[in-house]
Amino acid sequence: MSKRYARLQLADGRRVYAELSDERARVLSAAPWLSGEPTGEVLEGVGEEGQGAAAKLLEPVEPSKIICVGRNYQAHAKELGNEVPVEPLLFMKPPSSLLAPGGTIELPPPSISNRIEHEAELGIVIGARCRKVSAAEAAAMIFGCTVVGDITARDLQKKDGQWTRAKGMDTFCPVGPVVVTGLDPQALTITCKVGSDVRQQGSTSEMIFPVVQVIAYASQVITLEPGDLLVTGTPPGVGPLVDGDDLSIEISGIGALRVRVAAASSTR
Ligand code: ZN
Repeated sequence: MSKRYARLQLADGRRVYAELSDERARVLSAAPWLSGEPTGEVLEGVGEEGQGAAAKLLEPVEPSKIICVGRNYQAHAKELGNEVPVEPLLFMKPPSSLLAPGGTIELPPPSISNRIEHEAELGIVIGARCRKVSAAEAAAMIFGCTVVGDITARDLQKKDGQWTRAKGMDTFCPVGPVVVTGLDPQALTITCKVGSDVRQQGSTSEMIFPVVQVIAYASQVITLEPGDLLVTGTPPGVGPLVDGDDLSIEISGIGALRVRVAAASSTR
């Protein structure tokens, strides 16, 4: 059975994981992938849009690392004039790039980058330690699915060679609103809108390397921990984000991740 989990900032300041259903949040003792159990505390009127005074939605994961796959959809590799990779092309985003649902992507000043783009992607939350697992074993290591934006400074991606700055800036990894269990990660539709304009539409069935294959590949050399986030690549249609944009990334069975885009303030 499918379950839906969020991480909440409560009115009293506590930050907790909770299971959501019918606008009700059942508070857990820890992250569900770390054997968190219901504490008995139940909050009414908490939905997946983060509305209400009782709680605010936070990033639904606290990964030790965020491992991403580049060019995992043929049509996206081609739209940027890249070869289709013969094995998964991995890179990482730092945990400091995470952004909660309803948050604001901060565009860097033009002196740093002039081309920030959206990439709408399925996120996988790891449920158990993975070290040198096979693809067959990897299926059981998946805790659940979420929605991720792999925000990218396209000009820096080309200029730097390494993608650390291009993809690792603060706020460049919006995630959420929830983590959902029991979904088939290869049978989901992804829709990315900027305002009312549909920019990206695709199916996770079109991935070149399916999720279990990527987990197996990564785990040969990098130990994945429970709560780590795997970001699985973008379908075609990537495009620019500018000051004032509203970005919505929706995945079937999970819901819509909504964030705003704003030019960076000069304050620290
Ligand atoms: Zn990406």
